[in-house]
Amino acid sequence: MSLIERSASDLLGLLARGEASSVEVTQGFLDEIESQDAQVGAFLRVDAEAALRRAAEVDRRRQAGETLGKLAGLPIAVKDVLCDNETKTTCASRMLESFHPPYDSTVVAKLKLADAVLLGRTNMDEFAMGGSTENSAFQVTRNPWDLERTPGGSSGGAAACVAAGMVPLSIGTDTGGSIRQPAGLCGVVGMKPTYGRVSRFGLVAFASSLDQVGPLARSTRDAALLLEAIAGHDPQDATSLDVPVPKYSATVDRPLKNLRLGIVREHFASGLDTEVESAVRAAIGVYESLGAEVKEISLPHSKYAVATYYVIAPSEASSNLARYDGVHYGYRTEQIDDPDSLDSPLVNMYRQSRAEGFGPEVKRRIMLGTYALSAGYYDAYYLKALKVRRLIRQDFDAAFVDLIASPVTAHPAFKLGAMADDPLAMYLVDLYTVSANLAGLPGISLPCGFSSSGLPIGLQLQAPPLAEETLLRGAHMFEQATDWSDSRPPAAKD
Ligand code: GLN
Repeated sequence: MSLIERSASDLLGLLARGEASSVEVTQGFLDEIESQDAQVGAFLRVDAEAALRRAAEVDRRRQAGETLGKLAGLPIAVKDVLCDNETKTTCASRMLESFHPPYDSTVVAKLKLADAVLLGRTNMDEFAMGGSTENSAFQVTRNPWDLERTPGGSSGGAAACVAAGMVPLSIGTDTGGSIRQPAGLCGVVGMKPTYGRVSRFGLVAFASSLDQVGPLARSTRDAALLLEAIAGHDPQDATSLDVPVPKYSATVDRPLKNLRLGIVREHFASGLDTEVESAVRAAIGVYESLGAEVKEISLPHSKYAVATYYVIAPSEASSNLARYDGVHYGYRTEQIDDPDSLDSPLVNMYRQSRAEGFGPEVKRRIMLGTYALSAGYYDAYYLKALKVRRLIRQDFDAAFVDLIASPVTAHPAFKLGAMADDPLAMYLVDLYTVSANLAGLPGISLPCGFSSSGLPIGLQLQAPPLAEETLLRGAHMFEQATDWSDSRPPAAKD
């Protein structure tokens, strides 16, 4: 088995035992990026020189007998939405095309502290708004299983680079499904932790009460390893939870005894692709054969989840994105004077900068959110949505199971462009994922089968708040009993 086919956990073992150097491992993945990424388009930027320099430094420190961090020498990719003071953070937006953050986000700082080798920055939907990565202002990312199809989004680059074997681990963010959904569509493991488990300090905000950072990996064990490195209390994020972080990687392979697995009645309604349904039902059968007690539960308010999300997320976005005014930072128009306008040059400059800096989906969200928050509509939309959000959370609290199994998306990956003219259809793709964000729960997506045309199908597991350990152990049990996670896409070489 070549180095790049190894799991992150294996690679750490090889590195620790001196059987491979970080420079060799890093070069192996850089070569893979070189041969595949012209086709896949997962990376917005790769800094090979900086990565090799960091790898050589880790090798040197290892040889000198220094104590190294948990991910020492391991290459990792980061979604281009987390600040890093050594590179730009663009959020795949013209607005931030030349933005160099003056500080590190806590997640990036933790990765550096863990001595990981940061390889590059991955593509995404602009400001993480979308589910196909087609809303990036810079490039399209393709699904490594079928280059005509979407990798999902908004962390499409993060999922595609792991699926294609261009990197063993990556960091994504999930506001309404953006880690789990691309993980499902690309056949990798992706996890959204409990809201507050991972610091949002230095994460460029989309919808602050929903945003959460999490790992993408080729296996549950590797996801556990990465989560362990990035989780934990951070006084710089007021919503960060001050609770100890379990050693996920040490317990991940302990099977769960007496597992109560909930199946949501409302999830298997019309609209669910039959191949997805049978793969998810077969996965539930696997749990039964492993001794789980399968219970049918009801989440009666889940039918309002998409509508609730698409009021709350755009409302928060419209407020968060007000900071991009052409003055503080980001893009500024050249056209400050508008002879046809009665407004002052300052107002023209604000308007023009935002008109040129944001793409159409971001503008749509800002308009939706501004509308929902405006006087006279606030009570009818925003406040109502907050109340429904509470009911959605109460449904989960009343369910009394250890884990809930469901599809991740109703269909496997769709063709690029298929939903370009239909934003509502695109929003409905989030049906199974937004509830975890609204309720603040952890959720994971893992491979559970393939469609007849060879596209990956994902299984979603959700758990009560802070039960990431149960979630990872439950996912690992399935991975051990099946071999879906072992399949790799045909390499996308030119
Ligand atoms: N698809 C959802 C949206 O467009 C979720 C995005 C996300 O999780 N960042 O809002």
